[in-house]
Amino acid sequence: MSHSPEESKASQDKTISFDEALATAVPILQRMKRNLRGAPKATRSSLDQLISTRPSLPDSFTNPDPAATLTKPPEKAVIPAPAIQIKDNGRLAKLEELKARILSCTRCPNLVASRTQVVYGVGTPFAELLFVGEAPGEEEDLKGEPFIGKAGQLLTKIIGAMEYTREEIFIANILKCRPDMPAGESGNRKPKPAEMATCLPWLTQQIDLIKPKVIVALGLTAVEGLLGEPRTLRDVRGKWLDYHGVPLMPTYHPAYLLRNQTLAEKRKVWEDMLLVLEKLGRPISAKQRGYFLDKV
Ligand code: URA
Repeated sequence: MSHSPEESKASQDKTISFDEALATAVPILQRMKRNLRGAPKATRSSLDQLISTRPSLPDSFTNPDPAATLTKPPEKAVIPAPAIQIKDNGRLAKLEELKARILSCTRCPNLVASRTQVVYGVGTPFAELLFVGEAPGEEEDLKGEPFIGKAGQLLTKIIGAMEYTREEIFIANILKCRPDMPAGESGNRKPKPAEMATCLPWLTQQIDLIKPKVIVALGLTAVEGLLGEPRTLRDVRGKWLDYHGVPLMPTYHPAYLLRNQTLAEKRKVWEDMLLVLEKLGRPISAKQRGYFLDKV
């Protein structure tokens, strides 16, 4: 019997009741059971339980015509994979769109002329913890990823000591492009206030979409860039500040720690990180609590 396209469409769209679904499923389960002869008893009896869920089903459903089973090829039970949906309210799409705009930004002609790549940031769009640095250096500009040079490797160690990976958090900078250097000079320079003001809306939008629970500002440029006011790091380090309702912890930039490798300075940064872990409700081991305490 053939169906018109409308009838076929209607039968596809039809929502079936639980009883109808069970009526379809029971013969399939029975055939599965027959095919499971060598299977463990427990598997067969779980199938029995499933088959007997609705003893009131018509006889034809629980005892299919044996002739029909012999002549028809055995039907395969198709069990659809559960659809895993992460409700992100469009966050991923919006971040992708934002990323495309950031990567093609031409707001600072001097930086566009000197940069190799725009450094968008790295990590998960669902990060509870966001580290904000100053600006990409030479290596970051070449690779297009923040904090991969010496200071970055130290930051990665700090993140590891906090029992996170770089992929589980997010790392970004106030400036997305490496500050250009005067001709013939190597190294890195601090971003200028005008460059920071021009670039900041990109970071602001990233924060709005990622919605971190805690922000760590690495060094004074990050604190001033985010909060828009001049401060001294000595005054604010280790104290909770507020970035539009998000707790913000200012701490030393890892480049400072590379220049001041005393246990006392490392411990200061680590104590700031312990406060961050406490704020995030992360478990802290006795070993973690004791890092950099010896001989302080
Ligand atoms: N220093 C920063 O502030 N950011 C980087 O990405 C690298 C070094």
